[in-house]
Amino acid sequence: MNHSSGTLYIVSAPSGAGKTSLVTALTQDDKHVRVSVSHTTRNMRPGEENGVNYHFVAHEQFKALIEKGDFLEHAEVFGNFYGTSRSALQQTLDQGIDLILEIDWQGAQQVRELMPEALSIFILPPSQEALRHRLDNRGQDSEEIIAGRMKEAVTEMVHYDEYDYVIINDDFADALQDLKSVFRANRLLLKTQQQRHGALLKQLVG
Ligand code: 5GP
Repeated sequence: MNHSSGTLYIVSAPSGAGKTSLVTALTQDDKHVRVSVSHTTRNMRPGEENGVNYHFVAHEQFKALIEKGDFLEHAEVFGNFYGTSRSALQQTLDQGIDLILEIDWQGAQQVRELMPEALSIFILPPSQEALRHRLDNRGQDSEEIIAGRMKEAVTEMVHYDEYDYVIINDDFADALQDLKSVFRANRLLLKTQQQRHGALLKQLVG
């Protein structure tokens, strides 16, 4: 019997730090990790797909899901509601597959309370200037809009020291290597190896 259980990871970052690109690249190369699809009340952006990027729901639906206790965590982030549903989460971990929650600092705090074994990663930009540049939508937005985005980013970034790992995304390839290293090292932890290779370990010292 395989008793191995996947590890739950929380990944947070301010908008513009490259979190989604890094997580997408990680999951393309690594079949033992999946990303949880959250529910949100925000509008779909061009190129997004319902059920893939998010489960896009109306406010009333979101409220009903809260009342039913369907969410492990939920939070209001800059005017929209976001939540992680419980059902897929446990199923994935029970299959021995690692699961990533791409959530904000408020959700991260809630998940740590409920699942203290979860590991958390914070992704930061290399500088304020680099972030400002990334938040400037091809030079099309006003100073005021960019300043607003910077303020939101700082609201998220002040929580970096609540996380187990911190990755600075200056060079994308380096940051991806850092992210992969976190997953790789955690799979080598004694507890995890004992779950995965119990029979072998017994045999080797038997
Ligand atoms: P966006 O609307 O740009 O996709 O995401 C905005 C923010 O909401 C990001 O910081 C993202 O991490 C956060 N977020 C996305 N899904 C969830 C979720 O299920 N729960 C919480 N707490 N935050 C989420």
